[in-house]
Amino acid sequence: MATVERARQSDLRERNLAAVLALVADRTAGAGGDPAPSRAGLAAATGMARGTVSALVDALLAGRLLEEVPPPPRTGAGRPAHGLRLSGRRVAALGVELGASHAVACVRDLTGAVRAREAVPTIDRTGPPAQVLAASAELAGRVLADARAQGLDVVGGAWALPGLVDTGAGTLRLAPNLGWRDVDVLALLGEHPALQGLPLAVDNEAALAALAELWHPGEPDDAAGGRRGASFVLVTGEVGIGSGVVLGGRPLRGERGWSGELGHVTVDPSGPRCGCGASGCLEAYAGQEALLARAGLAGGAADDLRRAAEGEDPAALAALDDAGAALGTALAAAVNLLDVDAVVLGGSCAPLAPWLAPPLQRELAARVLRARLLEVPVRVSATGADAAVMGAAALVLQGVLDAPAPLLGA
Ligand SMILES: [Zn+2]
Repeated sequence: MATVERARQSDLRERNLAAVLALVADRTAGAGGDPAPSRAGLAAATGMARGTVSALVDALLAGRLLEEVPPPPRTGAGRPAHGLRLSGRRVAALGVELGASHAVACVRDLTGAVRAREAVPTIDRTGPPAQVLAASAELAGRVLADARAQGLDVVGGAWALPGLVDTGAGTLRLAPNLGWRDVDVLALLGEHPALQGLPLAVDNEAALAALAELWHPGEPDDAAGGRRGASFVLVTGEVGIGSGVVLGGRPLRGERGWSGELGHVTVDPSGPRCGCGASGCLEAYAGQEALLARAGLAGGAADDLRRAAEGEDPAALAALDDAGAALGTALAAAVNLLDVDAVVLGGSCAPLAPWLAPPLQRELAARVLRARLLEVPVRVSATGADAAVMGAAALVLQGVLDAPAPLLGA
């Protein structure tokens, strides 16, 4: 009986710690109200007793998940209270992205600030999965060492992968652009010495990019229009094209987490062959390789295309106009189906937005029924081309916010 009671109390404490931390995180993100709430403010917002909140805050301060902000200068009677905010001094998370022609790793602290980052411009994705993953693990090892030298405690890492990911099993089920099928990513990464002892996760890169767009504590809410009510479809482009949908502030993942395969939405049934085996998929027009080939830059990099467009090269401009229109055709279907507020361009689409957005906007205006009443805005991701890797780290940090107790001892 006593054991059951103790377990119940420990559950309650864990939930209350998470509630207090979430409230401070929301305020840190600028979601209205006092940007650095006091203990009294937290007690009022949670409905918990002042003493209970104080004990929880003390534990979170001792664990360096929170820190105190000096009170404002005294203006009248009474002693101004210290405010509280997330601390960037201890907990951090690793994110890694395997891009089309590059790999990126970063470490973000609990406030969301990027504390270490490295990109390697070329990673040979044609090699066997074990070799490609080992190269990404080495990159991760260097970024981890940088973060640890700053005194950060990296509590986990996540890999952003293209294609259909089984997050529970830690496997990549199918990625036509990598030529991978049923690869046990977590088992392969777990063998690498640089990652020993680090809890790891995998998820789809576009879903993580959408999470990054949603998750930016420590920065005021900007064009996202507030996290809680955010509603958008975010497009990420590499070799493939993926998308992540957020409705009412929550990611919409589908039954198995396999939604968002915008790249395989048909733009023209009689169009060119796609890597998936079908024809006329969006990827065959707006995927990076297709775009470069159409621009006469086959084998080049995303930067080559941007430079060609800046130089007003006619083939590059025509390829980008076609790609933007194809994106618009596919995204019009998504907006007609889902009624999201906005379209966001991330990944390699972000630097190309000046050329992709006008034809995209034109197609949305012509094809979305609601556009007769309400425009569908197109904007660039707040995290730019790094959306997926930022989202991978955010996935781990969200886990800390949801369950901080294991980091605090008894
Ligand atoms: Zn396809």
